Amino acid sequence: MLLTTMGVVIGERAYGENDKFIDVFTKDYGIIEITVKGGRKLTSKNAASTALFSYSKFCVRKRGERYYLNSSEIENTFYDLRLDVKKLALASYFAELLKYTVLSYDSDEAYEIILKLFLNTLYYLEKNTHNIMLLKSVFEFRLLSEIGLIPNLIGCSVCNAYSHSKMHFDIQNGKLYCDDCFTGSDGYDTIAVNQSTLSALRHISLSELNILFSIKVSDRLISELNKITNRYVLTHINRKFKTLEYFESIS
Ligand SMILES: [Zn+2]
Repeated sequence: MLLTTMGVVIGERAYGENDKFIDVFTKDYGIIEITVKGGRKLTSKNAASTALFSYSKFCVRKRGERYYLNSSEIENTFYDLRLDVKKLALASYFAELLKYTVLSYDSDEAYEIILKLFLNTLYYLEKNTHNIMLLKSVFEFRLLSEIGLIPNLIGCSVCNAYSHSKMHFDIQNGKLYCDDCFTGSDGYDTIAVNQSTLSALRHISLSELNILFSIKVSDRLISELNKITNRYVLTHINRKFKTLEYFESIS
């Protein structure tokens, strides 16, 4: 059976003498592993379209549970990402995060939205239009929101207050408390957030994708967002990411 789909390469592994496996996050089938015969030959006509982070049209033959590349056509290589160690490290972390969050997901609509989020993030990362740490927070927090881990940031979970000079974000339970209703203490799991931090978090998790990256924030706010979204990922995905450790080691 021949299938055609758009997808971005998020991993590759050498196999045999000239062949390779690629992990492709596709619009229609989620993440699939595709065998590329002769994919490591310098003369391979699929070299650019099957390179890491290339976004391409893939025509694959499905045999049993396995996919074999029939042909591919490049759409965007995101080539400049590979020229910057930091950007490449961050993109690799995004790819690893996708592997642990998208796999079990099964709706085409979700694949399409998450793929668009990923491609947009790579685009802005490549073009230098945004602070790289802001892109990290936007991708992390929006991705988790899209896979069903969206926190309730609409208002205080006790009195429903939409705004308050000081609110507290319970990362573990994805809940917000205004300072009047809050009875706990701030620490690793619960972080005090001011109004600008909260409105940035609301924007990232709730805004339409086409205005998601129009976010403008100060450097101080970016580091606040980084603290929160990083903990949010570690708390809810509950694993260590080697690619993240590497990115942090060079940042
Ligand atoms: Zn309240």
